[in-house]
Amino acid sequence: MTDNSKLTFFRGRVGLSAILKALGIGKGDQVAIQAFTCLAVPEGVFAASATPRFVDIEKEGYNMDPSSLAKAITPATRAIVVQHTFGIPANIDQIREIANQNKIHLIEDCCHSFRSTLDGQKVGEFGIASFHSYEWGKPIIVGIGGSVQSKDSELLKSIEADYKNYRVPSLTTQVKIELQYAVHSMTYRPSTFWILKKLFHRLSHLGIAKGSFNPIPQNGKTADDFQLRMPPRLHKRLRRQINAIDKHAEHSRRLVEQYQGRIRSAGILHPEPPELSETVYVRYPIRVAEKETVLRHARKMNIELADWYRTPVHPLTAEQSGEVGYKPGSCPNAEQRAKEIVSLPTHLRVRQRYVDRVIDFLNNFEPSHQLALPTAN
Ligand SMILES: *Cc1c(COP(=O)(O)O)cnc(C)c1O
Repeated sequence: MTDNSKLTFFRGRVGLSAILKALGIGKGDQVAIQAFTCLAVPEGVFAASATPRFVDIEKEGYNMDPSSLAKAITPATRAIVVQHTFGIPANIDQIREIANQNKIHLIEDCCHSFRSTLDGQKVGEFGIASFHSYEWGKPIIVGIGGSVQSKDSELLKSIEADYKNYRVPSLTTQVKIELQYAVHSMTYRPSTFWILKKLFHRLSHLGIAKGSFNPIPQNGKTADDFQLRMPPRLHKRLRRQINAIDKHAEHSRRLVEQYQGRIRSAGILHPEPPELSETVYVRYPIRVAEKETVLRHARKMNIELADWYRTPVHPLTAEQSGEVGYKPGSCPNAEQRAKEIVSLPTHLRVRQRYVDRVIDFLNNFEPSHQLALPTAN
């Protein structure tokens, strides 16, 4: 497996497009991706000139549903991007079987996962290649960036051959990213989450901060981002953080143990990772009956609760998602999940005081109606 700090790109989605291009996937080809994802993934597919095809998620989970995948495969399908949402390993066995049967490539989106395993094997080592992201909200944050990993030497050779065409970002962009990183690392903690979120949105609207999403590609023109490498300054940070990932994973496990054991409100559903998996959560997702009300109260009480994904192709609204090929109503589980999900942080700045507060908040929250509990199968 390649070292994560070797083949680095400006963003995770740039890494995805590099993988697709190196596999010879392009115009007229389809790439199956899950709904309940962010715009970055279809962006990466479009950047390779291919077309995303959205697949619904499991009825009660967060990852790709194998039977929906089987139905979405067409003669034009050349690859599947399987996402391990929040770090929860996807149902790899069945998905890999579908990939093998149809002779299509399996690519793993590891943007949320770093130390998760399934059946003792590390997530990211099941497909032909995987990619990571290092921006805000990911297990490793260095400011911006992504990387590609693969065990396939042919594929690696081909990605490396194209790599020399990728440029280093402009100095202005690098300075922006450094400033953002500095502000983020000095100020971010669960108690500043809401105010920083607001500030970041203002600044990216003004063009001062580097936002997370590009305009939807029009007429086959892709954003300049897709020609860029990760800024070289960030490599040292990335290596240092990769070395510290075990400590981070251990912290996440300890917090999640408390979230799992102590959040007992009847209106809340906990995630259920596959059997034989060990999940290291980048955030801990829960399903609540009244998402908007919960979020409003959390904000008022200054408790960090994230809301993603808000829509099947976050942050696109139903009308906008048509532009990336998502048909509203086509992935009902993803749409349902987007209405229920909130997530709790697991990063190193989460202290016991936050854990007690958020658990207290959730346990005492009185929903006016409750989620239907999943029926036993
Ligand atoms: C963040 C993220 C990406 C892309 O990351 P960028 O570095 O922003 O391009 C892809 N997939 C998932 C699931 C992500 O969370």
